[in-house]
Amino acid sequence: MAAAAAAVPATTTTDGKTFAFNADINQLMSLIINTFYSKKEVFLRELISNASDALDKIRFASLTDTSVLGEVKDLKIDLIADKAANTLTIRDTGIGMTKTDLVNNLGTIAKSGTKSFMEALQAGADISMIGQFGVGFYAAFLVADKVEVFSKNNEDEQYVWTSSAGGSFTVERDETDDLGRGTRIVLHLKADQGEFIDESKIEALVKTHSEFISYPINLRKTKEVEREVEEDEEDEDEDDEVKDVDKDKKTKKVKDVTHEWEVLNKQKPLWTRKPEEVTTDEYASFYKSLTNDWDSHAAVKHFSVEGQLEFSAILFAPARAPFDMFESGKKKRNNIKLYVRRVFIMDDSEELMPEYLSFVKGVVDSEDLPLNISRESLQQNKILRVIKKNLVRKSLEMFKELSEDAEAYKKFYETFSKNLKLGIHEDSTNRSKIADLLRYQTSKSGEDLVSLKEYVERMKEGQPGIYYISGESKAAVEDAPFLEQLKKKGYEVIYMTDPIDEYAVQQLKEYDGQKLICVTKEGLSIEESDEEKKAFEDAKAATEPLCTLMKEVLGEKVEKVVVSTRLAESPCCLVTGEYGWSARMEQIMKAQALRDASMSTYMASKKTMEVNPSHPIVVSLRQKAAHDRADRTVKDLIWLMYDTALLTSGFSLEEPVTFAGRIHRLIMLGLGVGDDDEDADAGATGSAEALSDLPPLDAAEGEDASGMEEVD
Ligand code: ADP
Repeated sequence: MAAAAAAVPATTTTDGKTFAFNADINQLMSLIINTFYSKKEVFLRELISNASDALDKIRFASLTDTSVLGEVKDLKIDLIADKAANTLTIRDTGIGMTKTDLVNNLGTIAKSGTKSFMEALQAGADISMIGQFGVGFYAAFLVADKVEVFSKNNEDEQYVWTSSAGGSFTVERDETDDLGRGTRIVLHLKADQGEFIDESKIEALVKTHSEFISYPINLRKTKEVEREVEEDEEDEDEDDEVKDVDKDKKTKKVKDVTHEWEVLNKQKPLWTRKPEEVTTDEYASFYKSLTNDWDSHAAVKHFSVEGQLEFSAILFAPARAPFDMFESGKKKRNNIKLYVRRVFIMDDSEELMPEYLSFVKGVVDSEDLPLNISRESLQQNKILRVIKKNLVRKSLEMFKELSEDAEAYKKFYETFSKNLKLGIHEDSTNRSKIADLLRYQTSKSGEDLVSLKEYVERMKEGQPGIYYISGESKAAVEDAPFLEQLKKKGYEVIYMTDPIDEYAVQQLKEYDGQKLICVTKEGLSIEESDEEKKAFEDAKAATEPLCTLMKEVLGEKVEKVVVSTRLAESPCCLVTGEYGWSARMEQIMKAQALRDASMSTYMASKKTMEVNPSHPIVVSLRQKAAHDRADRTVKDLIWLMYDTALLTSGFSLEEPVTFAGRIHRLIMLGLGVGDDDEDADAGATGSAEALSDLPPLDAAEGEDASGMEEVD
């Protein structure tokens, strides 16, 4: 096989058969061999699961071309425990591996899971999670000090892979050519792992961990039958143990050792049974064998659809997120297994679940699809589209049912809320259903999570919509100036602190007829009494000249400066346009280093400065400005107010050095120190240019000192 040979990586020695393990895999093997784990029995589940995958592959290939089965038509897994040799053998009639496969798959090509699994182990994960990381094969070294993998694939001759760990393995031609097709793994058990040669132990393990494997798992059982024989038969039965010798009758009892195959997994597929007849334990055990997860599922939905289209399905929500859930560009494995009339077709179809539900596991068994369906025709298949629609609907129903148990739902939500929010963004058909599943902390919820439904139910009368604020964390938003009036008036504000919230909310726009209102954007209207209105109008009229001055000073930095209704304690804040990016979005986009700069000039909407007309700073500034429009202190203070508003409103400082320069000058004024030195320092640090944009502060001590009091 010239092509196959070309892909074989370099060997470590010149003998042409010895290969070095990939460094990560080698490290993983050392960890498996040298660390103490009590659940060593996971190896069997992993090897059986690999065998089952290999059987799935050949069966799928045979659906379109039966000749691939050749002589070996029986699809099965055999287990043989050999006491004398101290070996346990797992033999499957699956697809088998070529020489190249053996070299690549069992040692030289590390998958992303190899490193991730070691990290997970260091972080306290259990060895039993190994299968989820795609390195299950190496679990063999938990119990074996030497492993042999004999394999025959239709594309190559029979080869044997051998390793006793220690950094290398060999792959050689196996002239016995006894497999026909498939793989035989022989585990030479470690001295202290004798229990895995015990047939009843193996039987118990298969029954608990592999009972739902859809191929027969046969255990070769040793039967010892006692029989009486004449004394002189002794020589013929040399191997048999002498049990009891009855001298008078000249007979004795001997044990005949015979072998019989027994099928260990006789369960019919779980989804073909009635949901009310399946126990929770059975679902858990089915879930585990389906996913390689050691933990039980968080929720399950078992249903069937009849009528024009017929299929049955079992869906599971796992308790834990897979380690690679948000690894981009990664093909998701083992999500929904597709069966057609009980025959496994594939487990990696993207046509069965949208990306945001890729964490949902399960099986679906269709009565209508043709058995020999190809991947290509699956893509346009109408039946599949209907199945997908139903799977999505049922998944959302399953989450909704789970949400009735607050404790369980909280755990689920912590793990999968990002997926739901992605769903809001992607799945317009089910958007309102997904919105029902969202939970947030609010200005009134404390540590609890509140649904939008609960929020709407307790909205104040006349409240124009659902108020929300987005920011980096709860701490960053809960004291934001935008909330001051709203809180004072008793409105509840939702805290959105997940970057994906920003994307979700842009699609959601409203819930239950209530508009979602971003409190950091323009156009926030807060209900006021007539008195409040009157007082506001007066203050507004008095503050307008200051607003005009501020706009003049700040120039292009702000779109406009207006009098605000949303502030109570702060002198000012910066809001963004109703349809542009919020401060939070701007931050996210900057962090993502958005390549398309034109997009950010377009969407990073100009900021509007809102001033609080009754705040003492504003009042005093207004008076100062009325006295002398050109007062340089006033201008400097306006810049400082702008800079601080950038910070309190969730933006980043545009020119931190300039800002620091202004603060330093204020500090010097406060301390009564002259600013000659400071100018020199600023020049030395290279910020002279920035500072020279600013009008210098007035030297008159008295006046500036009073300015400081106001700032304080
Ligand atoms: P995973 O099965 O999760 O991919 P493993 O480390 O268990 O990871 O196995 C590595 C690869 O070796 C498999 O992906 C498969 O290609 C191959 N393999 C393992 N066991 C068998 C087998 N019994 N028959 C055919 N191929 C196998």
